[in-house]
Amino acid sequence: MILLNPGPVNVSDRVRKALTFPDICHRESECAELMQNIRDKLLKAFVPGAESDYVAILLTGSGTAAVEASLISCLPVGKRVLVVNNGVYGQRMSDIVASQRLGVPEIKLDWDTAPDPEKISVALKHHPEVHTLAIVHHETTLGLINPVSEIAKVADELNRVCVVDSISGLGGEPIDVAGSHMYVVAGTAGKCIQGFPGVSFVLIRKGFIERVVKFPKRSMYLNLARHYEAQEQGSTPFTPAVQVYAAFDEALNELLEEGVRNRAERYARCAQLIREGLQTLGVKSVLSAEQQSNSVSAFYVPEGMTYQHLHACLKERGYIIYAGQGHLNDKIFRIANMGALSQANFSGFLSAFKEVV
Ligand SMILES: *Cc1c(COP(=O)(O)O)cnc(C)c1O
Repeated sequence: MILLNPGPVNVSDRVRKALTFPDICHRESECAELMQNIRDKLLKAFVPGAESDYVAILLTGSGTAAVEASLISCLPVGKRVLVVNNGVYGQRMSDIVASQRLGVPEIKLDWDTAPDPEKISVALKHHPEVHTLAIVHHETTLGLINPVSEIAKVADELNRVCVVDSISGLGGEPIDVAGSHMYVVAGTAGKCIQGFPGVSFVLIRKGFIERVVKFPKRSMYLNLARHYEAQEQGSTPFTPAVQVYAAFDEALNELLEEGVRNRAERYARCAQLIREGLQTLGVKSVLSAEQQSNSVSAFYVPEGMTYQHLHACLKERGYIIYAGQGHLNDKIFRIANMGALSQANFSGFLSAFKEVV
């Protein structure tokens, strides 16, 4: 089956084979070595040249675990979070913050509207109690890219900490984590890094994590400081998904061999192929070209057809497409081009689509 949903993704044979990693005890040096390798490779991939300014913290759990851990661990006592919400994942950050009553009223925008850094600056100045600004890099809801670099710089200038959900961004989209002073960036193995789901991570500035250690521990499992302190000692507080980590390590080898920039360019070419192909068939794109990411495209369901029918016909032909969310649930569909897929897979998809419509 070719997965055209935004994660889990199709992985290479090489990554799949890595799942047969030997049975090891997570308290032994083999596991410490595996985890350290992954942590080093994450820094090499995503903060090249600034490896000594950041640490990577690994978590067993899907991407949401990394986002939740970031939001609730990185806040000093008495301080607040301001969430920028322009999609389902911004909404999820708002829900996480609300569940612990840590927020101020969010900045809410339509799903097709990127936030204006100037307005965020004004909001931060209005709210001196806000310590953390939370924003999604690639809003997977429609495939919208938010200007996280500019926004992280604004936050940094006002001495606030920007927490970025780049779960569907890292690996697929260009992002200058170190250069734009992003303090905390959450990512996952199972999207553009082309590993399996179940392992996520947080990149965090070294000077900042040393402060986070003293912040309130609002969760037992999802406290970043606890994982950080253990991982720095070559240990882990809880049982990690060892085999999934091994496959993640192999996926990072692949990413570093391909090159992070080349991966993003490959995704951009694949997205272009899909967008041009569907446009030729008269299918309308939801976002304008300049708003769109390299890895997710949203389209209106062709007239006279339902999403369910389109999905079923394509599934029969070996392709999984993805529904819209919320109020666009039955009006749009999404095509993600993340994963170990070739141009031939996308041409095959376009032929199948043509047949169906
Ligand atoms: C996929 C995704 C998540 C996390 O989803 P999980 O199902 O928990 O892995 C978070 N944010 C964004 C932007 C995503 O695309």
